[in-house]
Amino acid sequence: MTSQRKCAYILASILALLILFGAKSVITGRAYLKTSTGSTASCLQFCWIRPFISCLSSVIRSTTGSVAEEGEDDREFDYIKGSPKGPEKWGELKPEWAACKHGKMQSPIDLSNARVKFISQPEIRIYKPSNATLKNSGYDISVNWNGDAGSIFINGTEYRLQQVHWHTPSEHTINGKRFDMELHMVHESPDLNVQNRIAVIGVMYKIGRPNEFLSKLKKSISSLIGKKGEERNLGIIDPNDIQAESQCYYRYMGSLTTPPCDEGVIWSVNTKVKNVASDQIKLLKKAVLYYAKENARPLQPRNNRDIYLYFSKYFTSY
Ligand SMILES: [Zn+2]
Repeated sequence: MTSQRKCAYILASILALLILFGAKSVITGRAYLKTSTGSTASCLQFCWIRPFISCLSSVIRSTTGSVAEEGEDDREFDYIKGSPKGPEKWGELKPEWAACKHGKMQSPIDLSNARVKFISQPEIRIYKPSNATLKNSGYDISVNWNGDAGSIFINGTEYRLQQVHWHTPSEHTINGKRFDMELHMVHESPDLNVQNRIAVIGVMYKIGRPNEFLSKLKKSISSLIGKKGEERNLGIIDPNDIQAESQCYYRYMGSLTTPPCDEGVIWSVNTKVKNVASDQIKLLKKAVLYYAKENARPLQPRNNRDIYLYFSKYFTSY
């Protein structure tokens, strides 16, 4: 970026000179160059030509290079407000993404204490260490388990842990407050006949001490900076290391927060806010592409949905 800025500055200066001295001096200059024998005087007068040409080619090269490197043209959606592929337009980009625009139970929402229903009920969460890969989708960084990483049970239905990923800043807000980061643990029911097949646990983070789970992944995340679509094998990763347990959490029915924005997602968002170092957030932002540095979908209307506040003692097993 710095060299591009320098080039832009040089180009702007040359354009200003052209305007100042007019086309005539340019034509004269070209004739002068032709007759130039390499004297100091002629060099001084035309020293801008070489940087001009090199700058022009460098700008062209860097522009085409960044398009290829960052995959600008193949992104399906982005997080840039006002962009043709931004969150306000997601529902219009594909027919199968219509829920992003017309859905009445979309996520994220503000989790307000004003209209919550209290429920006390134990919930079973059993996670197991399993082989995993780290992936850069361009939109987010995720840990994907290849084997059985364990399950949670909601009203007797099993939801198996598939992957976790991060949003910066948080997508949900609690009583209007947005946090610095939100982790999503995505679970899916193996039973195709279950009405709501996806259950997501959300964990909020504020800037403070480093997060241990992210610390373990630092090297792998660093190796995926800007590398959309690439993966790294992580070996065995224990989901318990995320330490996502919280005795109190919000529960509501919502949707995926990225296209296709499918509804029927059972959300559990912990009230306990954890810590993450600002450097760790910077690394996650650096790793994804420029259109997803702030990869939080804007808040969606609550539309009279119930929000339950669960007080629950988990039954976990290692
Ligand atoms: Zn998410």
